[in-house]
Amino acid sequence: MRKKTNKTSKKNKALALQTPKGMHDILPQDQVFWNRIKRQVKEIAEYYSFLRIDTPILERAELFERSLGETTDVVEKQMFVFKSKGKDRLVLRPEGTASIARAYIQHGLSHIAQPLKLYYEGPMFRYEQPQAGRFRQFHQAGFEMISHDDDPIYDAQVILACYRAIEGLKIKKLTIQINTIGCKNCRPAYRQKLQNYYKSRERHLCRDCRRRLTTNPLRLLDCQNKDCQDLKKDAPIMLDNLCGFCNSHFKAVLEYIEELKLPYNLNNHLVRGLDYYNRTVFEIFAEGFYSALAGGGRYDYLIELLGGRHSSAVGGAIGLERLIEVIKASNIIFPMKTKNKVFLIHIGNLAKKKSLTLIEELRNNNIDILESLGKDSLKAQLRSADKFKCPLALIFGQKEAFEESIIIRDLHYGTQETVPLKKMADVIKRKLK
Ligand code: AMP
Repeated sequence: MRKKTNKTSKKNKALALQTPKGMHDILPQDQVFWNRIKRQVKEIAEYYSFLRIDTPILERAELFERSLGETTDVVEKQMFVFKSKGKDRLVLRPEGTASIARAYIQHGLSHIAQPLKLYYEGPMFRYEQPQAGRFRQFHQAGFEMISHDDDPIYDAQVILACYRAIEGLKIKKLTIQINTIGCKNCRPAYRQKLQNYYKSRERHLCRDCRRRLTTNPLRLLDCQNKDCQDLKKDAPIMLDNLCGFCNSHFKAVLEYIEELKLPYNLNNHLVRGLDYYNRTVFEIFAEGFYSALAGGGRYDYLIELLGGRHSSAVGGAIGLERLIEVIKASNIIFPMKTKNKVFLIHIGNLAKKKSLTLIEELRNNNIDILESLGKDSLKAQLRSADKFKCPLALIFGQKEAFEESIIIRDLHYGTQETVPLKKMADVIKRKLK
């Protein structure tokens, strides 16, 4: 018994020094992917005139309870909620849209532009069962358009921005799954029809769906349980139950998508997990990968629900970890931009002492350098210069440090010259040209 307790406490001690479950470090070797993705998102956002917005990682729990819906999986099971010392109920944000709607109202952002186009990128938190492509801390980049009107061209531009951001990362064979889930006027009758359909088949449903049947029947359509999937084949679909306004809105969105020649599939069972959506909903998939890379839709009631003036809106979010998974699995390579760097070699104590100041001089002249300050042997430093394929090495020895000069060695031709420190920057620049 004692042995087992020791073993458990050892394991707990080891775990205490690991990242929390479902959360990951981003190590230096992966930064190339993150940098590339973030640059891509920024370029797309700037091209289509989306303005950057950053909101706090912590928000009041009520924001998400009111906006995502009390009966959604995210609110019911997946929020990291805690009480602050001041007794506020706070939550690590599970998604970005609700915060944007809050910021839009709080700062009166409707005055900036119509439509207001915003983009964001950052970490999100959901208490989910970690598995491939599903984490407890993950990152999203999102595009949102908020306006007085609900022009379907906005839906198309948000879908386009998400699509182009992913496509620009060389990810091939993307498909947009798209559907409409109607509006306040036509959805209640459809919801009732769906409930009636499933009520008579209730005993075949999984436990979650039996519960959802009363709280959130649309979610039955995207349940992954095999029996529930079989049942949905004959379930009534929203498309057949739309009001005239939703019908023409959806038709117009599809026409824009077709005009853009983006590949899409009408998916009558796509409903998405959050309550604030209405009308257009979409997800983007890469061929051969099960999980969606991006998802979003229209949310015309959210801003009013949170206390703002009625505003229509549409948005989409891309999951960055999932992009990296596809990039790695597809062996996509982002070539590193190699700059012409100069390698600084120091020999002797005096030169070492002065080398940090020398680096500052080079930095002030916009000359990129590499160094291995901790290594003292000339051979080891020359080996490093060779490894990084630097065109020039700067050799700074005891004699040079005394005489305020430096040896500039061309590593390609093996030639070298000694120049006064004052002229060093100009000579290097000339040689690098
Ligand atoms: P959602 O906010 O649920 O609409 O999700 C938008 C996108 O974020 C999804 O298509 C995924 O790419 C990504 N995503 C959502 N939840 C997770 C998660 N737990 N782990 C990793 N990525 C996620």
